[in-house]
Amino acid sequence: MYLKMGRKILKQLFVIFLFFLLPSTTNSQTKSWEQILINEAKRKDGHYFVSLNKISEVLNLNTYYSNKARKVLLYIGDDKITVTAFSPFIVADQTVIQLPIETRYRDGDIFVPIHFFLPILKSYMDTNDNFSDANDLKFLTHRANILGIRSEKKANGTLIRILTTQAFDKSNISTRYSRRWFYVDILYGKINKENITIKNKSDLIREIVPIQLEQMVQLSFRLKKDISSSNIEVTLQPNEIWIAIPESQPSPDLIKKLKTDKEKWRIDKIVIDPGHGGRDPGAIGPHGTREKDVVLAICKKLKRLIEKNLDIEVIMTRESDVFVPLKERTQLANKKGGKLFISVHANSNRSSRVGGVTTYFLGPARSEEALEVAQRENAVIQYEADTGAYSKLGDEAFILAAMAQNDYMRESQDLAAMIQREFKNQLKIKNRGVKQAGYYVLVGASMPNVLIETAFISNKKEEKLLRSSRFQQKVAEAIFKSIKKFKQKYEWDL
Ligand SMILES: [Zn+2]
Repeated sequence: MYLKMGRKILKQLFVIFLFFLLPSTTNSQTKSWEQILINEAKRKDGHYFVSLNKISEVLNLNTYYSNKARKVLLYIGDDKITVTAFSPFIVADQTVIQLPIETRYRDGDIFVPIHFFLPILKSYMDTNDNFSDANDLKFLTHRANILGIRSEKKANGTLIRILTTQAFDKSNISTRYSRRWFYVDILYGKINKENITIKNKSDLIREIVPIQLEQMVQLSFRLKKDISSSNIEVTLQPNEIWIAIPESQPSPDLIKKLKTDKEKWRIDKIVIDPGHGGRDPGAIGPHGTREKDVVLAICKKLKRLIEKNLDIEVIMTRESDVFVPLKERTQLANKKGGKLFISVHANSNRSSRVGGVTTYFLGPARSEEALEVAQRENAVIQYEADTGAYSKLGDEAFILAAMAQNDYMRESQDLAAMIQREFKNQLKIKNRGVKQAGYYVLVGASMPNVLIETAFISNKKEEKLLRSSRFQQKVAEAIFKSIKKFKQKYEWDL
């Protein structure tokens, strides 16, 4: 009896003990691994870094180190995070996340900026384990802290005022100037695209474009004339960030340089790239229509339109049914000094119901669909004799190549948007919008470049359209019109 009673009490006590113990241990566990990592971090150049070795040790994660590629793979449950040395890009299961600063590398170990890496890590830990915390991804989801942008003309220049709800650290604000675009990057900045108020009362600024990136806001100002970037001053006011751009007289050297730059920008030569050709038929429709044939027909019509109506020389990467390796296409474009590169393709999908027109520009793929289309177009490489030339281009190489030609990304995106707008007006097929993906054929083009997937050859209706001369002409006219508009917009300033 006593023994029985004792056992019962013991059991009850144990349950009570569990009740108190369990939530508090999980909670303190959550706190502790983050806290341990934060404590382990070492300060360098104003940021705290922790090694991936330490992270995997604390969280007991499986890792794969590739010392040759200076790359580390972290395995969290079924998920995988790839981190590369000296790179701000992290690939977390095909999603590319850009950290505001690059990773570091020392003695075979990669160091990540802990405050930016922690939220990513946490989101994976939370979905894979029972770790949970209400403050998840705190600074990824917080409310808008930048409410408005004002620009004003002052006696000695232009003042940009950024209205904020909180104080920002000056070290988190950076400015740069490139080819008539002035950029202000604000780390931890958050905007609400619908509510942000923009008032432009300066005669220097043509257009203000705020863009929300992963952990920062980029404010882009398109200018009417060149500025000298050396005298720009950032000051903090209560709930405002002030950026002063003084009026400056460019030096004769600068004027000369700008003049040659302008000549370089003039759109007087366009490279048109009909996809596939020769032993590579591209996608094939249900009735046997070959992508390589219809895209060549469209490109020939486009060439005729441009040469007849615009003062632009057209260079075709192929004029007949021949095979041209992808690399040679952009090499030709660069060698000939092309100012735009337009690759024309037809899309394909496993489902015969999918249809519509899409324009792509080069960048890390942001959706499953974009990735699939790019992989299919990239598969062309199997037809090439020298496949070794591409074998080193992994996902990250794409991203780096995309970043290397960052100068043209904005124009490429703009051109892609203009093309899609014309398609919307001219074609009666679905508008799938502007997308970004990693196309080999676009890597290495030193000019704004886009790839158009005109319609789905795998869709019977659209296959029929693609074969018809009328539809081909309409597609060519839409592209032609957008080129004309692009030329007008970008030569306006010259
Ligand atoms: Zn294609």
